[in-house]
Amino acid sequence: MAKDGNCSLEFFPPKTLAGRLKLLEETLPALIELNASYCSVTYGAGGSTRDTTVDTVLALSEQGYDVAPHLSFGTEDGALIEQLITRYQTNGINKLVALRGDLPEGVNTGHDLRHASELVSFIRGLTGDHFEIAVAAYPEIHPEAPGYDRDILFLKEKLDAGANRAVTQYFYNVESYFYFVDRCLAAGITQPIHPGIMPITNFANVQRFSAACGAEIPRWIERRMGDFSNDPDGAYRFGIEVVSQLCATLIESGAPPIHFYTMNQSAPVCTIARNCGLTGSDGSDARDKALHPSAA
Ligand code: FAD
Repeated sequence: MAKDGNCSLEFFPPKTLAGRLKLLEETLPALIELNASYCSVTYGAGGSTRDTTVDTVLALSEQGYDVAPHLSFGTEDGALIEQLITRYQTNGINKLVALRGDLPEGVNTGHDLRHASELVSFIRGLTGDHFEIAVAAYPEIHPEAPGYDRDILFLKEKLDAGANRAVTQYFYNVESYFYFVDRCLAAGITQPIHPGIMPITNFANVQRFSAACGAEIPRWIERRMGDFSNDPDGAYRFGIEVVSQLCATLIESGAPPIHFYTMNQSAPVCTIARNCGLTGSDGSDARDKALHPSAA
């Protein structure tokens, strides 16, 4: 993977060995043309994917990919979080995405960590500068935030605690990202805020996720998708068109490299990347790197 890559790629940990092999042998090689700087692997709330996340991270790392495990503490035991951090460090992992995770209503974390900023401080206290740390940012503001400026202040706390960059929740209103970045700059945030982009491949799923995480789907997209209710191919093409345009606008504006929520699928992200000029279309460079991922 390239240090100054075009983008970064997020995967969830497959539940089965067959799923992991598919990720390693089909999905990742197909994505090599994107020249990503690293891939990240999510961590299920409450440690639900602890083992599969670790297995996937170590398998990717063994194959030469630069991997950033997500670490969300939620209601996890503090000692387990410490063990995980140490295990990653011992295995040569040098990137982390530090998150609070989602807490069931009315449930306390059960340990001293309440906010992601405290996890960042904890990682720095335990491992010094070993890890490059990314944290989450919300252009449309986190659903539990007490206010717009306060949420930006809390993002600044995470960065001031030692995080190196922020990656955003996905969004389809590009203005929300531009306004957010302006407000972050005004608040004194200087670290890069990478736009998180979710391809629209299954619109019903995107609607469900969006309702839960507070990402807005613009009315015009919802209405246009309504026209394709009996035409899955048309819906897919429209989704690709919308997200390709979103990415092209971000790239033209000079935004930091995009973070793609791949949902473990290569085709939509590759098509979007080609459409918005992130990658060339002849694939020659891509084929070469697919054979030698660690040399890229
Ligand atoms: P925090 O930064 O702690 O913020 C959570 C809330 O607390 C916000 O409303 C904030 O305004 C408020 N807050 C922060 N600090 C303070 C303070 N000092 N005082 C009062 N209020 C405060 N979830 C997973 O479970 N696993 C994953 O792998 C995962 N990956 C993600 C990747 C990205 C790029 C993003 C954007 C989100 C991801 N999430 C993941 C979801 C994330 O865990 C949830 O959005 C969670 O609700 C908040 O996590 P956070 O790290 O942003 O928390």
